Amino acid sequence: MLKDSELPYLRRCVELATEALEAGDEPFGSVLVGADGTVLAEDRNRVAGGDHTRHPEFELARWSAAHLTPEARAAATVYTSGEHCPMCAAAHAWVGLGRIVYVASSEQLVTWLAELGVPAAPVRPLPVNEVAPGVVVEGPVPELTEQVHALHRRLHAR
Ligand SMILES: [Zn+2]
Repeated sequence: MLKDSELPYLRRCVELATEALEAGDEPFGSVLVGADGTVLAEDRNRVAGGDHTRHPEFELARWSAAHLTPEARAAATVYTSGEHCPMCAAAHAWVGLGRIVYVASSEQLVTWLAELGVPAAPVRPLPVNEVAPGVVVEGPVPELTEQVHALHRRLHAR
């Protein structure tokens, strides 16, 4: 269950997504939080340079493998503005990270992008649990979903 005390982490994800959009990247942001509620790392999408694997969830998975024990990774939560794509869900599971909380689901994103006339992505938008069945996943979070939708409208309205 999502607690009210977790909403600030999700709001930070939306801020990071906004920062990414304003820097010419895609509007996605993520925060890695330890078992005691401490923010350990955060990142945003950085694909504008041409490397489309530069998703924040992938960066956080790698960061956690370099900096956290297996126990700390398993006890950590990744908050993110949009549900992990299959690449990031796989990285999350391979490094043994814990729970995922996302604002908007991949299904919502696909619907929004189709409505905006954006061509389909080269990777199938599978839900996290189809890629990583053992990961506890929560979302979408209706309080913040419209903010994420608005960022995608801004990106594709250009
Ligand atoms: Zn991804």
